[in-house]
Amino acid sequence: MAGIPDKIKTWQMVQPTTFNKETKEKTPGKLQKTEIPVPELKEGEVLVEVAGCGVCHTDLGYFYDGVPTVNKPPLTLGHEISGTVVAGDKAWIGKEVIIPAVMPCRKCLLCKTGRGNRCLDQKMPGNSLGIYGGFSSHIPVPSIDLCEIKDRHGIPLSHFAVIADAATTPFQATKRADLKPGDNVVVIGITGGVGQYVGQITKALGAKTVIGIARNQEKLDKALKFGADFVINSTGKDAGTVAKEYRAICKANGLPNTGWKIFEVTGTKAGQEMALAMLSFIGKLIVVGYGVSSVEYNISRLMAFDAEIIGTWGCLPEYYPIVLDMVLTGKISIEEFVETRPMSTIAKTFEENHKVPPMKRVVLTPDF
Ligand SMILES: [Zn+2]
Ligand SMILES: [Zn+2]
Repeated sequence: MAGIPDKIKTWQMVQPTTFNKETKEKTPGKLQKTEIPVPELKEGEVLVEVAGCGVCHTDLGYFYDGVPTVNKPPLTLGHEISGTVVAGDKAWIGKEVIIPAVMPCRKCLLCKTGRGNRCLDQKMPGNSLGIYGGFSSHIPVPSIDLCEIKDRHGIPLSHFAVIADAATTPFQATKRADLKPGDNVVVIGITGGVGQYVGQITKALGAKTVIGIARNQEKLDKALKFGADFVINSTGKDAGTVAKEYRAICKANGLPNTGWKIFEVTGTKAGQEMALAMLSFIGKLIVVGYGVSSVEYNISRLMAFDAEIIGTWGCLPEYYPIVLDMVLTGKISIEEFVETRPMSTIAKTFEENHKVPPMKRVVLTPDF
C-alpha cells in the first residue's frame, strides 16, 4: 500500500471516435495519459488504489461506437475495478475491495423497492462518476457498496476486477429469470466475456441443462468444461436452423421442449432472432445483451405461450459478496478467463478487442 498520492495518474478519453454522417469522415478517438488532482474526500467516500480494471464491451461502445457517456469527455473510462482502500473512512483503510460497476442512490423509489440496480441516479465509474474511471492509479468512490475481499485464496487482486459487471451482471440476470435448481437454460453468446459467466453461474445455481450457442468453436469447446452440457455452433446458420438443432438436442436427450429460460447475451439481431425462435410454452427470454438493431416478432405468441420477455440491467451491490463467494469456493472460475496487461497498452488493447473479441477478459494493471 503506497499511501495517499499527490495526483491521480490516469488514461483519459479526451475524445471518443466521431463519425460525420454527411462527409462520412471518421475522426479517431483519443486516449491520453494525464494527471488529475486527488479530490477532497467527502463523508462516506474512500480513495481506492486500483489493482486492475477490466476492459468491457461497454468501454469500447463509448470509445468507438458513439454510445454517449453520462459525464462528457474528457473522462476516464473503466468500471470493472478491484483495488485497495488507501484513504477516507478509517474502517476501510487497507482493505482489498471490488468496486461495484453500478452504485445505486439508495434514496429513490426504485432503490427502496429492491430495484436499485436500475436506479436512475446510480453512479457508474467511467460513465457517471464525474471524470473518474478505473483506467487510473486511484479512484474516489462511495464506501457504502464496496465488496470486501477478506481472503483472496492466492488469486491476484487484479483478477477480481471481472467480478464487477462481467460476473455479477449474469447473477442479477438469474434473479430476474427466477432461476431454480433443475431449470433448463439456453445461453446465446456463451463464449463472450459476460456470456461465459451466464453459463457458469446458471450451472452453479443448479440448472439441469445448459445449452450454449456461439460461433467460435475453440471457445465453445471450453464452455463445455465450464457450465455448458451441449453447444451449438451457429456460424452461417439462420435462427430457424439453430432452433431446429436445439429441439433435436431436447428430443435426443429426453428434455422437455417447454419452460426453457433463454439468456440472450449478444445484443445482436441474429442472437435475438434465435432467442425468439426458441422461446416456447411457459418459457422466459432474459435480455442481457445490448444492441441497436430491431427485430420483428408477433408478441401475441407470448399470450399463446404464456411466456415472458424480461430485461435485466447491472447488478445490485448486495449480490457481489455472493458471486465473490462462488469464485472463492470454486463454484465458478475467473482465473481461466482473465488475462492481465499493463495499463500503458490501453490504446492497443482497445483496438485489438474492438476488432476481435478476446479469448480472455483483459484486465489492465496500472504501470504509470
Ligand atoms: Zn462492463
Ligand atoms: Zn436510487
